[in-house]
Amino acid sequence: MRKIRILYFVITIILIMQGCSDDINMQGCNDDKKWYRGNTHTHTAFSNHAFSSPDIAAKWYQEHGYNFLILSEHNKFVEIETDKFPEYLQNEFIFIPGQEVTGHKTVHTTAMNINRFVPWNFDHINKSVILQNHVNGIIEAGGQAILNHPNYRYAVTAENISSVKNLYMFELFNGNPVTNNFGDNEHSSTEDIWDQLLTKGMLIYAVASDDARQFEIFADYMSNPGRGWVMVHSSKLEADEIVTAMVKGDFYSSSGVFLKTNDRHSDAYIIEVDEKKTEEELSQDYIRGNQIEKGTEGYKIEFIGPNGEILKVIKATKGNYRIKKSDVYVRAKVTYTRMHQDGGYEEFYAWGQPIFK
Ligand SMILES: [Zn+2]
Ligand SMILES: [Zn+2]
Repeated sequence: MRKIRILYFVITIILIMQGCSDDINMQGCNDDKKWYRGNTHTHTAFSNHAFSSPDIAAKWYQEHGYNFLILSEHNKFVEIETDKFPEYLQNEFIFIPGQEVTGHKTVHTTAMNINRFVPWNFDHINKSVILQNHVNGIIEAGGQAILNHPNYRYAVTAENISSVKNLYMFELFNGNPVTNNFGDNEHSSTEDIWDQLLTKGMLIYAVASDDARQFEIFADYMSNPGRGWVMVHSSKLEADEIVTAMVKGDFYSSSGVFLKTNDRHSDAYIIEVDEKKTEEELSQDYIRGNQIEKGTEGYKIEFIGPNGEILKVIKATKGNYRIKKSDVYVRAKVTYTRMHQDGGYEEFYAWGQPIFK
């Protein structure tokens, strides 16, 4: 009996070392899952402020290593059958049907993988009730909801979000330059909003997206593609599988940093940066960092808990955090800082999803 116990102990240790323990999210294991890169928020000529055709948008994303795309047009349900698309675009690339439910009081919600149009015209004095109406309509249409750009016009606060049921994702990063992701002196950043929600016990995951609408002219002030994306760990490149993985938090979000390892175990959080892929991505001229005045060049991994408290900081490309019994939740954030030509600095991020103890 003792021998069996020792054997079990040894096997467990080996599995933990391989990143394959009894974990929440086996992202580091030698399973059959792959990383798929996607953008959940795109506008094309179906929306009245964007002009490119879906073909041009799809071509851009496909050529830049993306695997899936949602055309989230304002209050229009767009379903494009990938197999009717030009063949050269079908290589490891799919459309997921969608819509941006563009409601009253600047409550906007991406409907992922819906099978029909979702009504948007419901109004109420309370923004939580509007958001709940969007979420319910999206679920009735067979999809899942992402609350979009809460800081656009600083319209949606943590208080508006926290009481909403069946909402598992929100846009922490939206690539449209007017969406105030990082807040200001009077308003919380979207990351602060996230910690406020998680601290209240709401299980909600962070999405990064482009909200792209201009694919031909690139500038700082334009809503261009390639600014924010998700990396989803899924066994198949198929709409249902991708959405199911996202609702479980089997993804990370990025504004420039790629990860090799993003393991959320019940007892440890393990992060490793993919330096080569990050370097390649950051050499692209469409990429835009968060501009800051002072900084220290290089990588930093932070593990963060309730109220945004930093539990551990590692200035390296690899790091882990042993989860304690007293931890309520732990999430991971990787920052890469580089000097800008004008002497200032810019930061790029990857955000790992929370584990609740
Ligand atoms: Zn919007
Ligand atoms: Zn939009």
